[in-house]
Amino acid sequence: MPLTDPAPTLLHEGRTRLVAVSNRLPIALARAPGGRWTVKPGAGGLVTALVPVLRHRGGIWIGWSGLTGEEPDLPDLTSASRKVGYRLDMVHLTGEEQRLFYHGFANEVIWPLFHDLQTRCNFQPEYWYQYLAVNRKFAGAVADTSRPGDYVWIHDYHLMGVAQALKTLGVERQTGFFLHIPFPPVDIFLKLPWREQILQGLLDYDLIGFQTMRDRRNFVHCIQHIAPEARVHGRGAVVSLAIGSRQVRVGGFPISIDYEWFAAKAGSRQVADRAWYLHEELPDRQIILGVDRLDYTKGIPQRLEAFRTALARYPELHGKVTLVQVVVPSREGIPEYQALKARIEQMVGEINGRFTRGGWIPIQYLYRSLSQEELLAYYRAAEIALVTPLKDGMNLVAKEFCACSLEESGVLILSEFAGAAAELQRGALLVNPHDIEGVAATIRDAVQMPAAERTGRMRRLRETVRRHTIFRWVDSFLQAAFARKLTDFPALDRVHQEYVPEISLEAPADASGPTMATSPGQTGP
Ligand code: UDP
Repeated sequence: MPLTDPAPTLLHEGRTRLVAVSNRLPIALARAPGGRWTVKPGAGGLVTALVPVLRHRGGIWIGWSGLTGEEPDLPDLTSASRKVGYRLDMVHLTGEEQRLFYHGFANEVIWPLFHDLQTRCNFQPEYWYQYLAVNRKFAGAVADTSRPGDYVWIHDYHLMGVAQALKTLGVERQTGFFLHIPFPPVDIFLKLPWREQILQGLLDYDLIGFQTMRDRRNFVHCIQHIAPEARVHGRGAVVSLAIGSRQVRVGGFPISIDYEWFAAKAGSRQVADRAWYLHEELPDRQIILGVDRLDYTKGIPQRLEAFRTALARYPELHGKVTLVQVVVPSREGIPEYQALKARIEQMVGEINGRFTRGGWIPIQYLYRSLSQEELLAYYRAAEIALVTPLKDGMNLVAKEFCACSLEESGVLILSEFAGAAAELQRGALLVNPHDIEGVAATIRDAVQMPAAERTGRMRRLRETVRRHTIFRWVDSFLQAAFARKLTDFPALDRVHQEYVPEISLEAPADASGPTMATSPGQTGP
């Protein structure tokens, strides 16, 4: 719903404004003691990269507030909008909408299907109707808030039907869509009972962006399956898809991180000291690091099985490696996720029970969210990152590890089914996460890799991530969308980006340290 006060100081007449739309707003609303609302702006890569554009162009961000709209004293984000420098517009979802649209269609249909896990899908018809209704609701918010000439950039799988809903409302806007998760191959996509409606909805965008060329190819194959007359014109990252009289541009835009920020922060005294202490506690050992949200797409049990196999097959690894597995809590209320957690914990217990001996415990397991400093210290301390999702849109952990590997001695073991593999394959050791013996052998190879090879590979990886940052990602999408470069917008100083204050909606802002807020670019369910 639009704000009552349109925050007019943020409007810049006559320019193309950017309207970003995502399922969640890039803020966390919380109640402070005493009942006041506080707003914590997000600090993820997507937010950092978009904020200069939004500020400069009088931008707007529309998303779900996390509230039902039935709260007696809904927060007014006018003052928070002024402070973050762009307008925040809340959409509220009722309890029923959260259940059927968000937990249902988004997370029980699209999330598993698009990660090639169709057997986990729950194709309830009522989910679909609520998905359409919520997409119409978001379209209504866009219609109320935006004006002709604005560019509306919609993010992710929750909102594939917003452009179509806008057209149904008779609202004409330039629209772009970016899918943060993979797009599945045609044989899997065809399982979706609403496959044609989803594709038709996507074709109502002017530009559709995918993480990789593989995703884009899958999408084009699906379109050609339902519309064999569809033709692709052009070459390169962005091509044109012609279906009857409709032309839609379709591109591959691999998302990334703010490399310089990670590298600088990893080099700070606090992170360096912390990394040193982490290693002091594990002397003469290589740290193998896994960092994942609790999700079945991340392949954590398969990874533990591979680690168990490596220890069983290669006794020379005993006492020489420690797997630090960080699992960030997610969707803890859902039985499937509770079962996954229990399985992981059982496996960790079994492996430690079988292999532990005096002075050596093979797995350190952390089930919590890390502070930024702690996460970066682990990235810096680890000799090996084990990133083995069964399927992942991109996987930013892989890129963050490279950016933080300042000594250029880290080895990245990466699933070939992570979007990041397309860019990082020359430096990483690629594995099939289902191939337990193959992953086990690769763990051994990584541990034994000569220093010169480690450095050669990590240099290549760092160079790739350094050149393809989140800023370049925004840049390429905006260039494709409305022929503007990111350099057309004044850069923000890094201090401002880093120390995003918590904003109290009633009292003056209270400065607090940065947090690892979930950004809309972090697309987990
Ligand atoms: N991360 C975090 N808190 C933690 C550990 C990790 O916020 O305790 C961040 C990490 O820095 C990365 C993101 O979570 O940016 C995970 O992104 P990725 O693309 O790897 O996976 P996703 O969770 O989005 O599927």
